[in-house]
Amino acid sequence: MDYGLPAPPGGFDDASPETAMRSRCDRAWQWLTRWTLRRKILAGFVVSLVPLILLLAHTVEDRFAARRADELRSNREFAEAVAATLDAYVSDIDHQLLAQSFTLGWRLDLENRTVVQAYLALNRAPYPSLAALALTDPDGRLIAADPPQAVAAGLGDEPYIRAARDAPGLVVSDLLPAAGGAPPRFAAARSVQRAGGEVVGVLTAYVDAGSLGSVLGVDRPGHAAYAVLDRQGRVVYDSQHADLSWEQRDFSGLPQVQAAAQGRAATSASFASPIDGTRRLGAAVPVPRLGWIAMADRPVEEALGPIEDTARREAAIAALAVLAALLLAMALAVSLTRPLRTLQQAVAAVRGGDYGQRLDVRGRDEVADLMAGFNEMVARLEALEQERADFTAMISHDLRSPLTAVRGYAELLRRRAPGGERSQRMLASIVRESERVARLAADLGDSASAATGRLEIHPQRVDLAALVEDAVERLRAVDGSRPTRLDTPPGPLWVDADPVRIAQVLDNLLGNAAKYSPPDQPIIVQAWADTEARVSVEDRGPGIPPEELPHLFDRFYRAPNARRGTVAGTGLGLYISQAVAMAHHGLIAADSAPGQGSRFTLVLPLAAPPTRG
Ligand code: ADP
Repeated sequence: MDYGLPAPPGGFDDASPETAMRSRCDRAWQWLTRWTLRRKILAGFVVSLVPLILLLAHTVEDRFAARRADELRSNREFAEAVAATLDAYVSDIDHQLLAQSFTLGWRLDLENRTVVQAYLALNRAPYPSLAALALTDPDGRLIAADPPQAVAAGLGDEPYIRAARDAPGLVVSDLLPAAGGAPPRFAAARSVQRAGGEVVGVLTAYVDAGSLGSVLGVDRPGHAAYAVLDRQGRVVYDSQHADLSWEQRDFSGLPQVQAAAQGRAATSASFASPIDGTRRLGAAVPVPRLGWIAMADRPVEEALGPIEDTARREAAIAALAVLAALLLAMALAVSLTRPLRTLQQAVAAVRGGDYGQRLDVRGRDEVADLMAGFNEMVARLEALEQERADFTAMISHDLRSPLTAVRGYAELLRRRAPGGERSQRMLASIVRESERVARLAADLGDSASAATGRLEIHPQRVDLAALVEDAVERLRAVDGSRPTRLDTPPGPLWVDADPVRIAQVLDNLLGNAAKYSPPDQPIIVQAWADTEARVSVEDRGPGIPPEELPHLFDRFYRAPNARRGTVAGTGLGLYISQAVAMAHHGLIAADSAPGQGSRFTLVLPLAAPPTRG
C-alpha cells in the first residue's frame, strides 16, 4: 500500500514515477466511473428527457417535410397552369397563322410584295408580343416582312422554315439567339399552300421572348417565380429576370428539367439557381405539344423560413425546459444526497473512533429517521466505549499496585533468600511474568486513554536520532545475534516530543520487526529529515497482505498470520503507537508486500534546534 510517503534514502521497493502515475490514473478512473447517487439521479433525468427531445425533433422534422411537400405540390400546380396558358397562347398563334396562310395561299398574289407587306402589317398590329411577321418562299428567301428590317433576307438554313415547309401543321422553334442587339425571340411557322395543296411559302410569326410574361398573364401565387424553357432547357422567359445572358439561360443541368424534357413532371426540394446560385425548391412540367418545359420555384428560405422561425423558437423553449429540468434534477440530487453525505462523513468519523458525532435531524422523511437512528446508535456506542475505557482503566490501575508489590517481593526474595537454583529460577519467572502483566496493564491503560482522547504526552525538544539509537541499543541488548543496520543523519534531528512515549513507539516498531521476522534476517532502521522528521523500521519478514494493511492500527487487531503463529501479542502496540504519533501531530505509515518484508515509518513535525542557555 502506498501512503504517499517519500522512501527512505536507499530504502527498498521504491515506487517509480510510472507506478505513481498509474495509481493516479487509477484513482481518476475510479472517481469518473463511480456511480454516486447524485450521478444516478442526474442520469435518470437525462435519460427520461431523451425521448421527449427525440419526439420534438421528430415533430419538427415532420412539419418541415409536410411544408416541403405542400410547397412542391403548389409549385407543380403553378407550373402546370403556366404550361396550360402557354399551350393556349401558342394555339391562338396557330389559329391566326392558319387563317393568314389560307388568305395568303388562296387569295393573294404573292408576287405583289406591297400587298403581302400590307397584309402582314395589318395582321401583326393587334399583337404587340409579335416581334415580326414574315413570309418566305419554300427555300427560305424572304418575300415580305413586317417590320421590313426585322427579318434577314435568307432564312433557308433555319430548321423551323424547313420543318414548316415539309410538315402540314405548326412548327415552333427553340429560343433564337438575339441578332444585332434585338431581344431573343422564338418562331412559330406554318406552310402557305395553294388551293391544290402546293406549298408556295412559309409564314412565320416571331414572338418577343421577353413579352411572354404579359402575354401569359398568370397570377403568381405567393410570389412564386416561373420560367418557360425550350426543348434545349434554355430559358425563354423568366418571371424574375428580364435580362439574361445566353449562358445564364442554360437550365439543362437541373435534374427536374431533364425529367420534364423527357415528358415527366418532376420536383426538387433543393437546387441551386443557375442564375444566381440561391437555393430554391420547385417543379418542372412538360408542355406537351411544344416539347417545352414550364418551371415554378421559390427560394427555400422563403418557403421554409416561417416554420424555421417557429422551429427555432420551439428549440429555444425546449432547451430552456431541458436546462430547467436539469437544474431541478441537480437541486433535487443535492438536497437528497447532502444529508446522506453528512451521514457518510459521520459514519467515517465514528469508524475512526470519534464517538462524539451527532447529526442535525431536520424534517420528517426517511432520511431524518435514519439520522435520528444514527444519533441513537452512536450515543449507545459512546456510552459503551466509555464504560469499556473506564473498566479497562480501572483494571489496569488496580492491577498495577499489586503487581509492583509482587515483582518487588520476588526480586527481594531472589536476592536475599539463599534457596537452590530451582527456586531462583522460579523467582526469576515470577519477576518476568509480573513484568509482562504489568506491561499489559500499562498497554490497557494507554489504549483506554487513547480511545477516549486522554492520552497524556509531555513534549520537549529532543533529538529523535538519539532516541532511535537508544532504541536500537535496547533491541541489540535483548536480541544480540540479529543483524541490525542503523542509518542516522550526522547531526541531531530535533522534534518536539515526549521522549518516553516516542521510545515506547520505537520499541514497539522494533519489537514487532524482531517478533515477526526470522532471527537471522536483518532489521534496517533509518532516520532522516526532509520536510519532516522520519524514522523507518524495515524487516525482511513475511510481510503483510494488502487487505490487512488498513486494519493494522485498529485496537486489538492481530493479522491472521500473527494469530495463527506462536508470536505473543495483544494487538494494542500499533494502536497505541499511532495514537502517540497523532498526539504529536505525526503519523505512522505501513508499507509492505507479502514475501518482501514490511516497513513502518514514523513521521513527526520537525522542530528548530533548541536555543542555548
Ligand atoms: P501485536 O504485535 O501485539 O499483535 P501490534 O499492534 O503491534 O500487535 O501489531 C498488530 C498486528 O500487525 C500484528 O498482530 C501483526 O499481525 C502485524 N504486524 C505488526 N508489525 C509487523 C511486522 N513487522 N511484520 C509483519 N506483521 C506485523
